[in-house]
Amino acid sequence: MTEEISYPVINKEICKGCMRCIVGCPQNAILLSQDMNNAGYQFAYYSGNGCTGCKDCYFTCPEPLALEVHQYKKIVDDSVAKMIKAKANQGGN
Ligand code: SF4
Ligand code: SF4
Repeated sequence: MTEEISYPVINKEICKGCMRCIVGCPQNAILLSQDMNNAGYQFAYYSGNGCTGCKDCYFTCPEPLALEVHQYKKIVDDSVAKMIKAKANQGGN
């Protein structure tokens, strides 16, 4: 069994702190830092909780390369994980 994990990745040096992603996130999962980046902008960052992977933040961000949404599947069924590990130890045969 797998569980999908999603989270935004924000490049703080490209972010201009416009807050569109913050306002647009239905989960209120993005916050504005009190610190500034090298260009003098406060920057957005992921709170670490609540992202559902909807990508609203990605589509609302006006800065190319400032924000991506990463997603991956995590194996949560321990018996499957053990089976894969056993296979790997056998050299995949
Ligand atoms: S993908 Fe959706 S839920 Fe996740 S941080 Fe972006 S707007 Fe929020
Ligand atoms: S929408 Fe983009 S530029 Fe604006 S605060 Fe969010 S990451 Fe930064």
